[in-house]
Amino acid sequence: MTIPPVTIDLQYRGIPEAAASFLFHTDEGPVLLESGPTSTLATLQTALVAASVDPTSIRAVILTHIHLDHAGAAGWFAEHGANVHVHPFGVAHLADPAKINASARRIYGDALDHLFGEMHACPAERIHPAEDGEAIRYGRHEFTAIETPGHARHHHAWSIPLDDGRTCFSGDVAGMRVPGTDHPILPLAPPEFDPKAWKASLDRIERGKFDALELTHFGRVDDPMDHLERVRDQLDWEAALAIDLLDDGDLDEAGRISAYRDELHERAAADGVPAASRATYLNDGGISMNLGGVKRYLKTSRSEPTRTDHGSTGGSSTN
Ligand SMILES: [Zn+2]
Repeated sequence: MTIPPVTIDLQYRGIPEAAASFLFHTDEGPVLLESGPTSTLATLQTALVAASVDPTSIRAVILTHIHLDHAGAAGWFAEHGANVHVHPFGVAHLADPAKINASARRIYGDALDHLFGEMHACPAERIHPAEDGEAIRYGRHEFTAIETPGHARHHHAWSIPLDDGRTCFSGDVAGMRVPGTDHPILPLAPPEFDPKAWKASLDRIERGKFDALELTHFGRVDDPMDHLERVRDQLDWEAALAIDLLDDGDLDEAGRISAYRDELHERAAADGVPAASRATYLNDGGISMNLGGVKRYLKTSRSEPTRTDHGSTGGSSTN
């Protein structure tokens, strides 16, 4: 029996179904996939206690990537003895998050504390790099890393055979979704957004022929092929939109955000997303981040067409 996890809604920024942590009851104790940010650590601890799990008893935290909304709180569990499994490029930043925290502080200022909180450092001996294809076992649960760059260079999706089907816990690489709809939302986050790598990662997940996806933002997708196709379309459309707006010399930042919002909301409305959900889930914070991610990508790809060194994580991204 490989029992499916309990999905914990972290009520991120006070919004329902915005970010998840997944709780697996394995034969070797409780395991989390995604810790969420520091700002929702108390919410997660309360949810664990409600599920009869002592937060200090978590055996392992498995991460899709080290952006603050996925990994910010992992260090707290590591301090209490949990193993942390992460892409090799994430190891140094988890052990010493000073650069990530300083970068986030520059971007968000005082708002950082309620938006994400600073990342907890993980004791180095608790961090275990997971290579592409590596399988990690806790009891009968097996978590296999699928290297899936595009949103971030250091991104793993995790393939897990469960009693209700083979499931891909996709982090951010299969996008996000407006609750109650099929409409995808894409975090084109700096500094490592790369549409070509992202599309190759979507191909890779598609070839996995999973029975279901589990999105960190948010929840179960029962028709992976349909969802992945929507993500692919949205990625092509939205990257082209952002490039057009960035190349338009007549627009300032506020004008770009306003034009982007109009287009994004119009497309979502055509997909059946109600106005209240558009306001909540397709907000200016996400739009500003996406413009930043595409701008950074253009700067890199236009100035250094042969660049292949994406090995470092610049740390300015959080989503
Ligand atoms: Zn995220």
